[in-house]
Amino acid sequence: MTAGARDGITFAIHPSTEPVPAARRAELLASPGFGRIFTDHMVTIEWDEKDDWHGAQLRPYGPFSMDPASAVLHYAQEVFEGLKAYRQVSGAVVMFRPTANAARFNRSAARMSMPGLPEDAFVHALELLVTQDRDWVPGGAAPGGDQSLYLRPFMFANHVGLGISRPSDSYTFAVIASPAATYFSRGGQPVSVWLAESYTRAARGGTGEAKTGGNYAGGFAGQLEAVAHDCEQVVWLDAVEHQWVEEMGGMNLFFVHGSGAHARITTPPLTGTLLPGVTRDSLLTLAPDLGIPAGQEPISVTQWREGCESGEITEVFACGTAAVVTPVGAVRGPTGGWTIGHGTPGPVTMRVREQLLGIQFGQLPDPYGWVHKVC
Ligand SMILES: *Cc1c(COP(=O)(O)O)cnc(C)c1O
Repeated sequence: MTAGARDGITFAIHPSTEPVPAARRAELLASPGFGRIFTDHMVTIEWDEKDDWHGAQLRPYGPFSMDPASAVLHYAQEVFEGLKAYRQVSGAVVMFRPTANAARFNRSAARMSMPGLPEDAFVHALELLVTQDRDWVPGGAAPGGDQSLYLRPFMFANHVGLGISRPSDSYTFAVIASPAATYFSRGGQPVSVWLAESYTRAARGGTGEAKTGGNYAGGFAGQLEAVAHDCEQVVWLDAVEHQWVEEMGGMNLFFVHGSGAHARITTPPLTGTLLPGVTRDSLLTLAPDLGIPAGQEPISVTQWREGCESGEITEVFACGTAAVVTPVGAVRGPTGGWTIGHGTPGPVTMRVREQLLGIQFGQLPDPYGWVHKVC
């Protein structure tokens, strides 16, 4: 059985003969955690120099068989994406801005000397998987909740051989799906962050703006340092002066200046060393429509600390697909720390969080055309 072609790519459909029984699925969905359980199917597409993209199929979720000399295992030629499917209040299952992820996926791929996948085929692969595994999309937004189906497209090099004179000549693209509750155990509660001064995540000309595995491998040392100092997340600073705030391990940062009718939000500009988040872009767009001006401005650690001390900075929050919008309550670093506002979720943070979740779950209108209906 095939499901039509996209950009000349034909998808073969091979449904699982042993899907997880409904009762067991319900048990798993009762407390999915994050990235721990996976649905019944996955999509894979192969690429090589001779045949371009081919062999696209929806098939049962399962292990890959790999040669030990596969390029990705040695030289980390890999890129990935992360987005979510939501069950809206109407019962429709939708994705949020999948074409933005398709475009970023191809920018990451280009940086890592990997082939691009036509955007249509990327989105179609997601649609096929979500449609097939729609019973795995959690029930929707309980008050204060935000359960969804996290989608993880990725691509890796599978040329067999250890030569490093050129990029791989063959790749596998795949999509897997994982039901997800909030990313942080205390969803919606403020997190504490650690200023990484001894490690650097990315420098100009490097791979910081690509969603590629090695950035995260190199980042664990900073994250472990954060945890060792009782902080939940690491904040990365610029590689040259270690003064300018960039982002967190998997989230972008926003600063709230002023309060009430005078509140405005800022986020560090895209310098090439931080990940251009789809959530970041969405908030820059929707905040002004809520009467909250939004801009991109550099901010140093000193400005952050002094801004909190003077009361000019009233709230700080992190944002990303997995964590949605999460308040930051306290900052710590090698030379001390400080509290942001009252260390509790602030009104501007909660306002933009509600607006974003409302659009995603279909409780609020979507004037931006961000919601992509699947089934
Ligand atoms: C994925 C990611 C983000 C957030 O991007 P979204 O598109 O909003 O999910 C931010 N920083 C890093 C390092 C990331 O990997």
